[in-house]
Amino acid sequence: ALEARGVALSFGETPALRGADLIVETGEIVAVMGPSGSGKSTLLHCLAGILVPDAGEIHALGRRIDNLNEAERSELRRDRFGFVFQFGQLVPELTAEENVALPLLLGGVRREPALRRAREWFGRLGIDGLERRRSGELSGGQAQRVALARGLVGEPAVLFADEPTGALDSFTGEQVMDLLVDSARRQGATVVLVTHEARVAAYADREIMVRDGRVTSPAVAS
Ligand code: ATP
Ligand code: MG
Repeated sequence: ALEARGVALSFGETPALRGADLIVETGEIVAVMGPSGSGKSTLLHCLAGILVPDAGEIHALGRRIDNLNEAERSELRRDRFGFVFQFGQLVPELTAEENVALPLLLGGVRREPALRRAREWFGRLGIDGLERRRSGELSGGQAQRVALARGLVGEPAVLFADEPTGALDSFTGEQVMDLLVDSARRQGATVVLVTHEARVAAYADREIMVRDGRVTSPAVAS
């Protein structure tokens, strides 16, 4: 479903990726691990079409995506990809249900049907009753579940999650991972998640290691 081939990217003088190779099969759940600063987030952003590599190729869902123009990449991100960011990164001005509905609204779904679909996730993720709260009125675990709902609401083919449990205690983190894996499996979504916690990585089908901007351990499903 996803492939990085020799992907390199520098931020000014700082090389973040130096030839990263990775293949993720459709429906696979892969955990990306590695030291701080090794390039995990950058790799995730390249795979997700948020960043464009300086060299190498990214293939997703049967097409090459690193050479698409900005409009084509936004469309792909909106229609086929979902994201869960560390600390949720909810829009503070919006209610929880509006935050969840956001990918649908941006995709042109009308407000009422979008909110209706968004609300279905609150019960599913055990956060019903919080639909009208703003993000500042949610606990970390609640906000992370809202962020997870926002990542899944569009039924993405690929879900990207950067430290989805990073801000949570281990119990809440496990609840969020249970929900993430369960929902992804149900939707048949491919998942790439970044984590530095072995306990979180254990939920994945496979763990890969990033060091110094390269994938150092199994780059391909065995
Ligand atoms: P962490 O576990 O701390 O989140 P990471 O593995 O996700 O680390 P990246 O965020 O991918 O690491 O960063 C890889 C390298 O690129 C680091 O040296 C970092 O300082 C640098 N870097 C990342 N983003 C930027 C940016 N926007 N501008 C400049 N340098 C950056
Ligand atoms: Mg990171």
